[in-house]
Amino acid sequence: MKNKCVECGEEFIGRADKKFCSAYCRSSYNNRLNRDANNFIRNINNILRKNRRILARLNPKGKARVHRDKLLENGFKFSYFTNEYITKSGNIYRFCYDQGYLEADNGYYTLVVRQEYVE
Ligand SMILES: [Zn+2]
Repeated sequence: MKNKCVECGEEFIGRADKKFCSAYCRSSYNNRLNRDANNFIRNINNILRKNRRILARLNPKGKARVHRDKLLENGFKFSYFTNEYITKSGNIYRFCYDQGYLEADNGYYTLVVRQEYVE
């Protein structure tokens, strides 16, 4: 049975379900896949950490009121956060780790800090 190596494209003889000509090609293929996934995860982690840093910098006392533009100016990305907390009254706090924010009025956000871990 003639197969074509998924990694290097060389033809090789082997079982029909064999995808690689060698252990070398199999491991370089898998390493590349892992590297791509790791890069993806690393980029998201960097965004989350940056968001957290921005919130912490703008909120040195544990509570602050900050305009949306100020956050955006600093490079804050609203689509990335680690978790949400919805209060009984329906307010949605979003957190980047321990640093959180709640949309207030006129484009302002209330920044908060939470130390303890909540499910
Ligand atoms: Zn190969």
